[in-house]
Amino acid sequence: MKTEEYVALEDRYNAHNYQPLDVVLERGEGVWVWDVEGNRYLDCLSSYSAINQGHAHPRIRQAMVEQAARLTLTGRAFRNDQLPLLAKELCELTGYEMMLPMNTGAEAVETALKAARKWGYMVKGVPDGRAEVITCAGNFHGRTITIVGFSTEEQYRDGFGPFTPGFITVPYGDADAFEGAITPHTVAFMVEPIQGEGGVVVPPEGYLRRARDLCDEYEILLIADEIQTGLGRTGKLFGCDWESVRPDLVTIGKALSGGFYPVSAVLGDRDTLGLFKPGDHGSTFGGNPLAAAIAREAVKVLVDEGLIENARIQGDYLLGRLARIESDYIAEVRGRGLLTGVELKAEARGARRFAEALKDEGLLCKETHENVLRFAPPLVITREELDWGLERIEKVLTGL
Ligand SMILES: *Cc1c(COP(=O)(O)O)cnc(C)c1O
Repeated sequence: MKTEEYVALEDRYNAHNYQPLDVVLERGEGVWVWDVEGNRYLDCLSSYSAINQGHAHPRIRQAMVEQAARLTLTGRAFRNDQLPLLAKELCELTGYEMMLPMNTGAEAVETALKAARKWGYMVKGVPDGRAEVITCAGNFHGRTITIVGFSTEEQYRDGFGPFTPGFITVPYGDADAFEGAITPHTVAFMVEPIQGEGGVVVPPEGYLRRARDLCDEYEILLIADEIQTGLGRTGKLFGCDWESVRPDLVTIGKALSGGFYPVSAVLGDRDTLGLFKPGDHGSTFGGNPLAAAIAREAVKVLVDEGLIENARIQGDYLLGRLARIESDYIAEVRGRGLLTGVELKAEARGARRFAEALKDEGLLCKETHENVLRFAPPLVITREELDWGLERIEKVLTGL
């Protein structure tokens, strides 16, 4: 079948909750993907940073296939021989005492919010039903009704109310605004170290540190959503590491499986995650042995292959080269590690047409919001592959 036939089928039978580029992919390897006509593309989105380890990483695939042949799902009614090892390995890598496994990022965020509320009532002594969580304008934490309820993106909310109460929004990057919103009922402040979906927005230096200090001062939990920034994307294990900030709860997902399977988790210490008692929370697939085996290998690959270091080195290079592009369309270039965004001026008439043109040049990326192009290739990318991509990016950003 041809591209147009797949597009027609999808448009006819699948809900239109996305507007994908019309490229139908059938194979991937490392930083490259191929469409059904055999065209090759450099993947500069990495499935929103789920493919940090590159497409079809042979070690993760091997772990997945072997585990799939042994045991895939037990439910948490029984134990399995993979989850304990993942929990131990993740805690040793990240320095947290516990983890709680889920599947999607949104579920990890919901879990962290539940943990924070529970902590607020049981430890901080907030009156029942009064817990407040402070979130940031421009946030993206997923798509459940609770989560879109505190989104500031009108489209994410429109038509989906009524929403969960107990959330307050403050401007991102403004620690004074956060402090001003604190009440005796505040249990948590939830923040992305860099807002990825929000347009690769990097907060002012010292913001996360100040947020950490305020959380300590007012007895509030700091929840970092590292689902996109975590696991090496910004050139450190976590985005918060850039300011040596240790959050109380961290959500991870996406690259936790290297893109092979939905695997997410919340990391925390006994004083928060330890509050969950049997029956308080759960998930049929969360912590299943297939997911755990995949995640174990995906995390080992990040470390063994030096991908976090590579993200920093190649990311510095990518940012430097993007910043030097002389284009009347570019308003700002920003990012950290291999999470970069190019904000276009109004006269560029939207980022979408640049993403379309880059696709025709063999490079896949996606606009975030109207006017930001995000470039976030897999962390396995080499200098030569980046140069190949930058040639196309320069051509399109100066030529359209
Ligand atoms: C992608 C993302 C999520 C949601 O993850 P899903 O797996 O799509 O539910 C949450 N937070 C951040 C920062 C993300 O980038």
